[in-house]
Amino acid sequence: MITLATPAAMQQWARSQHASGRRIAFVPTMGALHEGHLHLMQTARSYADVVVASIFVNPLQFNSREDFDTYPRPMDEDLALCDRVQVDAVYAPTAAAMYPVGFETHVDPGSLAVPMEGAMRPGHFRGVTTVVAKLFGAVRPDVALFGQKDFQQLAVIRRMAIDLDMGIDIISVPTVREPDGLALSSRNRRLSLEDRRASVAVPDALRSAVEALATGETNAQALERTALRVLAGEPLGRVEYVRVFDAATLEPIPVIDREAVIAAAVWFSDVRIIDNMLLHPATDTTASTGM
Ligand code: AMP
Repeated sequence: MITLATPAAMQQWARSQHASGRRIAFVPTMGALHEGHLHLMQTARSYADVVVASIFVNPLQFNSREDFDTYPRPMDEDLALCDRVQVDAVYAPTAAAMYPVGFETHVDPGSLAVPMEGAMRPGHFRGVTTVVAKLFGAVRPDVALFGQKDFQQLAVIRRMAIDLDMGIDIISVPTVREPDGLALSSRNRRLSLEDRRASVAVPDALRSAVEALATGETNAQALERTALRVLAGEPLGRVEYVRVFDAATLEPIPVIDREAVIAAAVWFSDVRIIDNMLLHPATDTTASTGM
């Protein structure tokens, strides 16, 4: 496994791979790797000949200096994990290499970046699209994989790749969860034992909405209320939002008559947990068996 630290070194490596006819699959991360990240890297293998992972904690996408400063950065462990899942190259640039003096160009996402995470974290997605565009420019991938866990991020990046004619296939990978249902996240390691136990209310709440839909409740607000009732039962959680929306446009919908998503952001002490689950509309067959 090779480690590359500058855009120029990364581009040179990528060019040599392409010159040898190899396709590159890319998994961008902010490090503090867990099984969710490793699953993306292992899945990447089936899309290309070589796999590149990046590790870069992007200052542009943080809303609080404290969150940025306390974000875990176990670089040696991360490199060992990448090696274990047979990543071919790790791109780990410094902030100075990414944003040298004079840097001033940003990628401005559109309406997909406005609700939910966009509303709660001003400038977050502009930071994400900018860094991902730069990472794509250095890694030159044919395909890039992103977790469904960050559903809105995936939608924003997919749109960017299309709008800017990047020619990169964006692949969505299902969320990897702990045995009790909590979605794996680098921030989970900052949860106290008590908060960790309480945080299972988030997947429980989302699942209760999925189950309510399966038993015939198609009203979006009713599904949000179902999830909120479960969260209300956990006093350690402070709900920021629970939202049902159209999976393609991210706009609110009154009833689940197309692919939809229920997403939540909930605070446990100073740790913010986000998660989501897909809401599949009933097919005609299901509707008729329900009669
Ligand atoms: P991050 O390091 O948080 O920026 O995440 C890097 C990539 O890993 C993103 O595409 C995330 O959506 C994805 N990811 C994070 N957590 C999970 C998870 N539990 N399951 C699958 N993918 C994940």
